[in-house]
Amino acid sequence: MADNKRDYYEVLGVSKNASEAELKKAYRVLAKKYHPDMNPGDKEAEAKFKEASEAYDVLSNPEKRAKYDQFGHAAFDAGAGGAYSGGFEFNMGDMGDIFGDIFGDMFGGGARGRRDDNGPVRGANIKTSIRIDFDEAVFGCTKEMELPLKDPCDHCHGTGCQPGYDPVTCTKCGGKGQVAFTQQSLFGMVRNIQTCPDCNGTGKVIKNKCRVCSGSGYVTSKKKIQVDIPAGIDNGQSVRIRGKGEPGKRGGDRGDLLVTVMVNQHPIFQRHEYDIYSTQPITFTQAALGAQITINTVDGDFKYTIKPGTQTDTKIRLKGKGVPTIRNNSIRGDHYVTLVVQVPEKLSEKEKEIIRQLDDEIEEPSDKKKGFFKK
Ligand SMILES: [Zn+2]
Ligand SMILES: [Zn+2]
Repeated sequence: MADNKRDYYEVLGVSKNASEAELKKAYRVLAKKYHPDMNPGDKEAEAKFKEASEAYDVLSNPEKRAKYDQFGHAAFDAGAGGAYSGGFEFNMGDMGDIFGDIFGDMFGGGARGRRDDNGPVRGANIKTSIRIDFDEAVFGCTKEMELPLKDPCDHCHGTGCQPGYDPVTCTKCGGKGQVAFTQQSLFGMVRNIQTCPDCNGTGKVIKNKCRVCSGSGYVTSKKKIQVDIPAGIDNGQSVRIRGKGEPGKRGGDRGDLLVTVMVNQHPIFQRHEYDIYSTQPITFTQAALGAQITINTVDGDFKYTIKPGTQTDTKIRLKGKGVPTIRNNSIRGDHYVTLVVQVPEKLSEKEKEIIRQLDDEIEEPSDKKKGFFKK
């Protein structure tokens, strides 16, 4: 009797203009409190659970909610000639989404797994890694990898069952795909539901396994896969290759292949984000007199003129000589070069004599305004 029913908003304890999130939150609290698995044998809790579930089922559906707002419970009362002739039927199966969502954390995702058992399931992603050189990461490269990939078995068309035989109902779960078990929890002993380990939730087991794939439904073979690595990729980043993961089930798409790129260190360049850093030794005389030097960059040799009197640890910036950004390869980072003056370690007598003469010519460092050398 619709007349005896409590108002759905009242049941959930929310206002008439409660948002979807508020509804879900309110229902989550009630559902956890009154769920039959938490209250075994408690008829009152079960009734409250059903009442809350029914209220949530209606209010969480915008179309049903609009009808309810207009006509009240009569909207779902077929016998009373309500506007909504379908009638309300409390159906746990229809609530799969909600339960997956709300009880996922309580039942370890088992509730969600149940509703996927007969629909297409996307294949799992596969992770692998590849090692490339510094320059290959800077400018991008194409690599070929050989990987063992699964394909559905041709002999059994992926069923895993020898042609001519059918899978049989799982005896452990009686075909339901789930088994109940009792577990100690914060709430005391609770009955939990788990995907059946014997049939993996399918409710069927294969007695006559396919002789080609031994019942797995897959055959594995080595496949050559081309990996296009974009310019600018950095150590530890991944490239996603769509559709090269594990095959899906029941018509689901293949998963993806995720290739993590590991970049070898460069003997002279260091990278930080899109900038490159290196040090460049220069001689004492180059530093003192100025010179044109050749700097090694990822683009090859670069001619650079250093000013007379260049100090050691002088940093110069070569704009746009860094790493291309992944998003836009025409935008590049910079290359920072630290010039390091090399002091000669072994000198001939003649060289020593020249430097002594030079030393006599040079002013004391305190007289800096006139420059390093006395003219
Ligand atoms: Zn089973
Ligand atoms: Zn097979």
